[in-house]
Amino acid sequence: MNKARIAIIGAGLSGLYAAYLLQKQGIDYVLLEARDRIGGRIHSVATDGQSVIDRKDISDRFDLGPSWFWPGYQPQLGQLVQELGLKSFAQFEDGDILIERSPNTAPMRMQGYVSSPTSMRLIGGMAALTEALYQRLDSNRVLMGHKVCQLRKTAMAIEVKVESNATSSNQNDNKKTTWQVSQLLLALPPRLVEQNLEFTPALPDDLARQWRSTATWMAPHAKYFAIYDTPFWREQGLSGSANSAVGPLTEIHDASAANGHAALFGFFGITPEVRQSVSEDELKLYCREQLTRLFGAQAQSPVADFIKDWSQDTFTATTIDAQSGGQHPHPPAATATTGVWQDNLIGIGSEWSRQFPGYVAGAVEAASVAVHALLQ
Ligand SMILES: Cc1cc2nc3c(=O)[nH]c(=O)nc-3n(C[C@H](O)[C@H](O)[C@H](O)COP(=O)(O)OP(=O)(O)OC[C@H]3O[C@@H](n4cnc5c(N)ncnc54)[C@H](O)[C@@H]3O)c2cc1C
Repeated sequence: MNKARIAIIGAGLSGLYAAYLLQKQGIDYVLLEARDRIGGRIHSVATDGQSVIDRKDISDRFDLGPSWFWPGYQPQLGQLVQELGLKSFAQFEDGDILIERSPNTAPMRMQGYVSSPTSMRLIGGMAALTEALYQRLDSNRVLMGHKVCQLRKTAMAIEVKVESNATSSNQNDNKKTTWQVSQLLLALPPRLVEQNLEFTPALPDDLARQWRSTATWMAPHAKYFAIYDTPFWREQGLSGSANSAVGPLTEIHDASAANGHAALFGFFGITPEVRQSVSEDELKLYCREQLTRLFGAQAQSPVADFIKDWSQDTFTATTIDAQSGGQHPHPPAATATTGVWQDNLIGIGSEWSRQFPGYVAGAVEAASVAVHALLQ
């Protein structure tokens, strides 16, 4: 049986940051990640919508997950960005915004506004952050394609049952392994823990209920990207921001890379169910039509366009998320205060953050609070 002192489940930002803090203290851990990539909801891709393996290209990337952070009121995240030597830039917001109120009226042009505090983006996309953390970790301790299925508390330890290569389409390829650890850090959304991890003995009822009812932030949402050679809307005095009651996109922003292609992205205003009722090609066609209505004929022919629907991603969303409106989570209890799981596990996914539940900054906060508690 494999052994480590601490098992971190999930290599999104919270899991990677916890590993980084533990490694700095020389504490033994294993980081188990179900997907075959790190980052979780943080996922920055190249102009073809695919992950970039060649690191030379990272400045021309687009965020399928989070784009923005606000160092003005999230100082801990701002300091981490600095510590890792990452470069940021302000969201482009100069110029007018467009409002589409109904299918029968032309889009209205209005004076835009700049967010305060400023919404910041990272050069290379938000994945620059998770990749910088990963580069500082001992890669032998970070196991991708390792899906945790069961957690069993014995008299002496916790057994963590893992299916490896679980992302393979052939389920027969799955290999089962067990890790023996004394502490768990749950670096994934509380609702996924409750739904997908089998605890023996079961978690206390009240804790399981709290975790089940905690919405996973942004899990019901989907983003559309249109990539262009130039940000032609800026030449028309437009910021690239638009709000629409017509759709299919409800909120649109400039997503141009700091050093690379221009882009617009939008959040869909239609439900996951409606999105699934049409083909991706048809959805993309409606999005291109909407961008053309708003920004003119040049918007009609992007060099590439792609969609990321998080509601269909089983390592982020559950069926409950896909059917809900995606309200902002209220942080649940992070530990068991009764029963055998007391003192053995801590929830560190961003939804457990007290200050910024559901946000990128929340993943950093929840991980650091848990690691400091462990060190004491
Ligand atoms: C479309 C979108 C836009 C967003 N925009 C913003 C924004 O602009 N600003 C902002 O602050 N926040 C934003 N967020 C939220 C932000 O992405 C999250 O708060 C943050 O990335 C969460 O990190 P995490 O580590 O807590 O969880 P996650 O990133 O969800 O990581 C959990 C990890 O656990 C893994 N996992 C799941 N099940 C298992 C299992 N059984 N075994 C092993 N591993 C498992 C997953 O694969 C994943 O890697 C956005 C999110 C989305 C989806």
